[in-house]
Amino acid sequence: MQKDDAIKKLGNGEIKLYEIDKLFSSTDATNIRREHIKRIKGISLENISKYSLNMEKASQKNIENSIGTVQIPLGVTGPLKISGKHANGEFHIPIATSEGALVASVNRGCSVISKSGGVNTVIIADKMTRAPVIQTNSIQESLKLKNWIENNFSRLKEVAESTTSHGKLIKIDPILIAGNYVYPRFNYSAGDSMGMNMVTIATEKVLELLEKETDADVVSLSANVCVDKKPAYMNIIEGRGKSLMADVLIPKEIVKDKLKTTAKSIEHVNTVKNLIGSAISGSMGFNAHYANIIGGLFLATGQDIAHVVEGSLGITTAENRDGDLYFSVNIPDLPIATVGGGTSLETARESLEILGVYGSGKVEKFGEIVIATVLAGELSLMAALSAGHLAKAHKTHGRTNSQ
Ligand code: NAP
Repeated sequence: MQKDDAIKKLGNGEIKLYEIDKLFSSTDATNIRREHIKRIKGISLENISKYSLNMEKASQKNIENSIGTVQIPLGVTGPLKISGKHANGEFHIPIATSEGALVASVNRGCSVISKSGGVNTVIIADKMTRAPVIQTNSIQESLKLKNWIENNFSRLKEVAESTTSHGKLIKIDPILIAGNYVYPRFNYSAGDSMGMNMVTIATEKVLELLEKETDADVVSLSANVCVDKKPAYMNIIEGRGKSLMADVLIPKEIVKDKLKTTAKSIEHVNTVKNLIGSAISGSMGFNAHYANIIGGLFLATGQDIAHVVEGSLGITTAENRDGDLYFSVNIPDLPIATVGGGTSLETARESLEILGVYGSGKVEKFGEIVIATVLAGELSLMAALSAGHLAKAHKTHGRTNSQ
């Protein structure tokens, strides 16, 4: 079929958008679908059409019905001095955003931290979860099923791990029960991948065995106890993805000269904003803006952007220590990857390469860089609020000029 014929057939409904891929290469299919949208909307789409990504590769696992790409400005911050177990040294960090002042603010945080000797980082836990819902006939049977799962863990582990060479089933816990519904939470280590596809496939295999050997029925492979892409105390308490912490001690003179405020003032703003303000509003994010930094880093590095909602959960602490500022950030739930998902898209790969974390064996280092950068952004915003500089920075860097 000629391309023009395909565009006409899309227009009159003879072919569906996804059927074009069966007739043309993914690159041609992309152009044909875009041309169709251009014609029916009467617009040019000149910018969506320009890209360097390999659409043949992207169409195999990252996108369906492709018509092009979007572009987001990419800035760089740093150097940021990090003292972690996996990330050690000075790093330049790429951040993709359309929010003026964000990169400048994180950059100021990096500079202050590096002058103070660097940020310390640790990984507390590492797991990816999948929790199905299984139906029984009664509460007695639900309890029996819970016992069956616990007593057969070694077998279930073997079955789960037969589907993957990198994934390991660590535990099935907690196993929640609501009447005749049972919700076991499967916890895996997923290596350098984020792991959602991996653990979904592994859990599905376990459930096949469970249905064969018990009277229970699986209602849904995912049942919101995972908890994937939603804010939840389950993830804050139990952890999901990487659970991370970072801290720094900023000497009194640097707080005064570079942050233009005092440790006492930052401690006070942290208490009334991040702690009391979050509590009275029912917010689950006891921080100023983790999502800003995580969103920018996720866009740049090909992470699953919907997981920003999980990374936004966490607590910032600030203490005045005789004029010096002790400052920490804590993220219990950060799903990230240096392998799989969107990490091999060409621009994502380049951003991961700037950080030195593309590929196998790098995800812990990446996690420590993310939490260190979050601290830089959090510190800078908290200092700006304490010094009353926030509105001024946004006026200078981000406000749309009137035409
Ligand atoms: P993936 O793109 O399938 O990559 C993971 C696979 O890479 C692993 O299963 C593993 O194969 C292989 N691999 C190679 N080197 C590895 C290493 N060093 N460490 C770990 N694995 C390695 O996907 P994923 O990470 O499992 O999941 C990410 C994708 O899932 C994203 O695109 C995300 O948007 C999507 N997602 C899916 C769901 C869902 O419910 N399915 C939900 C949210 C997001 P082996 O297993 O053979 O070892």
